[in-house]
Amino acid sequence: MPDRPVAIEGDRPFVWINGEFKPKSQATVSVFDHGLLYGDGVFEGIRFYNKRIFKSGAHLRRIYRNCERIRLPVGYEPREVEDAMREAIEMNGLADGYIRLLITRGVGSLGLHPFRCERAGVIIIADKISLYPPEMYEKGMKVIVAKRPRTPTACLDPSLKSLNYLNNILAKIEAIDAGVLECIMLSTEGWVGECSGDNLFIVKDGRVLTPPLEAGMLDGITRAFVMNELCPKLGLEMEEKWMRIDEVRDADEVFLTGTAAEVIAVTSIEDTVIGDGVEGPVTRRIREAFREVIAAGAPED
Ligand code: PMP
Repeated sequence: MPDRPVAIEGDRPFVWINGEFKPKSQATVSVFDHGLLYGDGVFEGIRFYNKRIFKSGAHLRRIYRNCERIRLPVGYEPREVEDAMREAIEMNGLADGYIRLLITRGVGSLGLHPFRCERAGVIIIADKISLYPPEMYEKGMKVIVAKRPRTPTACLDPSLKSLNYLNNILAKIEAIDAGVLECIMLSTEGWVGECSGDNLFIVKDGRVLTPPLEAGMLDGITRAFVMNELCPKLGLEMEEKWMRIDEVRDADEVFLTGTAAEVIAVTSIEDTVIGDGVEGPVTRRIREAFREVIAAGAPED
């Protein structure tokens, strides 16, 4: 392992790029990287709490599976990438924060041909993050329904967390234009899928419901954690269900999940107030259970 550069204030974070740490000002990629030229690559957003990488195993399984799906050889074993993530946390003197792990097709020519790129670009950025303002977690957030549908699975499966995020970004612009930060996205057939950067749940008559993956969405790691670990722990009934937007508007509670967002209540959808217009009791229990599990030591599996 090469000597570590000394951290200089203002030139953090140190970014791991194919085995080397570079200070922020020098952490650059080639303009010929197909990740930049074509969005040809995949990524993960990962949280760490008290230096423990939340669901590290699940994130690594997802990104390696996605690399296989786009036929991108990573060039590193998952264990090596995990070690590098831990090093990036140490190197930047962080205890709590966010890792952006990117795997790009790498440097190639201007043509589309992906297999002429020499080797994948593997990048690890460990930094601080705050997605939504803290008071939003108490008060809940407002969202809209995007007019733009989610890219159909047959075109580009939303479960593939690729560097092509324009579908989500254009939907997010609709949200920003409407004065909010998130939007619900529907399939081209009008089924509720997910949000531009979060998965969606509703609570109706005490039951926790979320659309099935087949509705077209990212197989969220926070979603799976809520479904498979937090709901059973709290004795909450949980089910996947195809939904129309009216069912969401009519729910007792709505909440979103995501690595960056964690668990956050939705209290209105456009002009429709959800439930009592504040974070509901089930959402609160799930959010608090999430915090408790993290406080006891974030699961890394
Ligand atoms: N959907 C989309 C489109 C996302 O980008 C994300 C991650 N920001 C999520 C859902 C939540 O997934 P995870 O819990 O794995 O972060």
